[in-house]
Formats: sequence, C-alpha cells, structure tokens
Amino acid sequence: MPFIDLKAQYQALRDPIAERMQKVLDHGQYIMGPEVKELEEKLSAFVGVKHCITVSSGTEALLIALMAMGFKPGDEVITTPFTFAATVEVIVLLGGVPVYADIEPDTCNIDAARIEALITPRTRAIMPVSLYGQVCDMDEINAIAARHGNIPVIEDAAQSFGATYKNRKSCGLSTWGATSFFPSKPLGCYGDGGALFTDDDALAQAAREIRIHGQSQRYTHTRVGVGGRMDTLQCAIVLAKLERFEWELQRRREIGERYQHKLAGLPLERLAVRADRDCVWAQFTVMVEGRAELQTALTAAGIPTAIHYPKPLHRQPAYARPDLSLPRSEAAAARVMSLPMSADLSEAQQDAVVQALAQALG
Ligand SMILES: *Cc1c(COP(=O)(O)O)cnc(C)c1O
Repeated sequence: MPFIDLKAQYQALRDPIAERMQKVLDHGQYIMGPEVKELEEKLSAFVGVKHCITVSSGTEALLIALMAMGFKPGDEVITTPFTFAATVEVIVLLGGVPVYADIEPDTCNIDAARIEALITPRTRAIMPVSLYGQVCDMDEINAIAARHGNIPVIEDAAQSFGATYKNRKSCGLSTWGATSFFPSKPLGCYGDGGALFTDDDALAQAAREIRIHGQSQRYTHTRVGVGGRMDTLQCAIVLAKLERFEWELQRRREIGERYQHKLAGLPLERLAVRADRDCVWAQFTVMVEGRAELQTALTAAGIPTAIHYPKPLHRQPAYARPDLSLPRSEAAAARVMSLPMSADLSEAQQDAVVQALAQALG
C-alpha cells in the first residue's frame, strides 16, 4: 500500500492532464503562459481573495511574502518550532530571527495564547502554520497582530489548501496565505509549485515583481527579486487537478473522520480538530508511545508510516537553540506518526491499516 497514492489520482485524471499539457506544448509559452493567469484567477476565486500569485514552490511563496514586506536583517518573526524547515529557513535566509511560540499539545498548531508575550519592537511578522491540514486560531492571532500596530500575519498553508475555518478558506484569512503544490500536498502538481494569496494590492504588486527578478517591466528592475515563477506546464497540471479537487477534499474529510472513529478504542492519541473548522489531512497523524517499535511492526505488516516531524526546528543543527526549551514541541516530535492518507485510499486499505495498528498495539 502506498503512503500517498498519487498513481490512482493520475489514472483518474489521465485525459484532462494530457489535454492540458498538450495545449501548453503546442502554444509554446512555457514561461508565464496563459495557464498561469487562468490558474491564478481560479484559485483566487476558490479562496475568496483578490490576488493569487503563483510561484515556484511553497518555500518561495514564504520567501517572497517576507521580501514583499521589506523584511530586513534582524527582523523577528513569531512562528512555531514544530513545522517543516522551510517555514523558518526563509526567515533565517533573509537574516531574520525566528521567535518560537510552543504548540497546543492536542492540535500541534501554534498556541495563540503564547504569541503576545513574544512581541518586541522588532517583530515584523507572525507566521502560523496550519499543520496537517487544520487551520490555526487565526482570529485570535489576527487580533493580537491588530493590537500591536497591525503586524502582518502570514499563514503557512502549505498543508491546508482547501481547509475551512469558520466557513472561510485557508489562505484567505490573514495578510498573506502561502501554499505549496508539492505533489503530496492536498493540491499538488507534478514537480514544484506554490502560490501566494492576499487582498492587499500593493503587496500583490510587489510579490508579482519579486517573482520575476524584481521587474516592474521588462529589464526595469525596481527591486531585488528572485527567479520564482511557476512553470506554465505545472499550472496546467493543477488546472486539470481542480476538476476533482472538491471530490478529493470531501474524500479526505471522510477518510480522516473514519480513521478518527475506527482508532477511538486504541491506546493512542488522536489529533483534536476544533469544532469551527475542518482538517484536510495533508497528513493523518496520531501520537503514540513506543513509536519506533510500532513503526517496525507496521512496516512488517506492509503498512508504510512517516514522521512529521522527528525534531522541532530549535533542535535541528542548522537552527539549533540549546538555550530554548519548548517541551510541547519536543514531546510531539517524539510521539507523532503519520498513517497512509490520500483521497484514493480505499476503505479496505484503511481497514488494513487500523487492523495492523490494533494488532501491533496489542
Ligand atoms: C511543504 C511545506 C513547505 C514548503 O513547500 P515546498 O513547495 O516544498 O517548497 C513549507 N511549509 C510547510 C508547513 C510545508 O509542509
């Protein structure tokens, strides 16, 4: 059984993907072709914000969001240590300082109640991560940001595209939403891609320019930028995948709920999902004791598992902060384990996962 079944998804979308790709190959506008604009229009309508700017990856989306705000060395960003490295990588790359708020132990998302005490005159952004596909406490975070002179809030929504929060969509909840189309994310392409979302005209314009080497027009470089465009072919693939994206989101929610229900009696901890939002389960993650032994037993039973993530960032060599103790993140990193999850996971496959888990847990 695959951990994420991308082949079944491709089989279901073979024809529209082939047609879309062929069209690009025929018209030949491989960079910034018409599919780029078409995708940006469809995605901004889906999220319900004014601007969508496609970029070359989720990492680049985060980087460009910071650059567009005029981020400077020494600026601080309040974020979570329990995330994929890219969240913090872009801050450090620009000479900034990540300031960590520990997580909520039951959702593994940043604990909004810990943010305000970390604000200093150098705080330039708050960057919550909607981990595993569940949006953070964005209203609380936005309110804190507003109280302190409208600090920009960047939602790292790489894992939560399509998730809802109080009937609004992830990516459209704050100054910026940044997502990724890495193949295994809820909405993936067949390579690297990402997108930024904002309602702010000036920020959107800055991001559009930074994405193409800071050009306001051809060979007029008004700011320092990056080579951050998303390929027309990758945009075409995402456009084809949109055909059944609503179905996939529905399946993800159903499979997630079915897992939660079936695992209820087992000696493991399930992730909490708050009542005013849903989870699109970019990863279906549980928390267990004796994880290494459990993984070995599951592997022997043919069930693949993964760990998102084995070390919080303040314990990673590149970002090591031996002075910091963030016990909830450290505890989560020692206990989390992700199970096979994708829109095409069958009930039989899911039952096999649950059965193997039950057996391994005794
Ligand atoms: C995947 C991911 C990213 C980076 O996205 P890429 O498209 O791989 O660059 C950033 N943050 C989080 C939380 C992610 O899961």
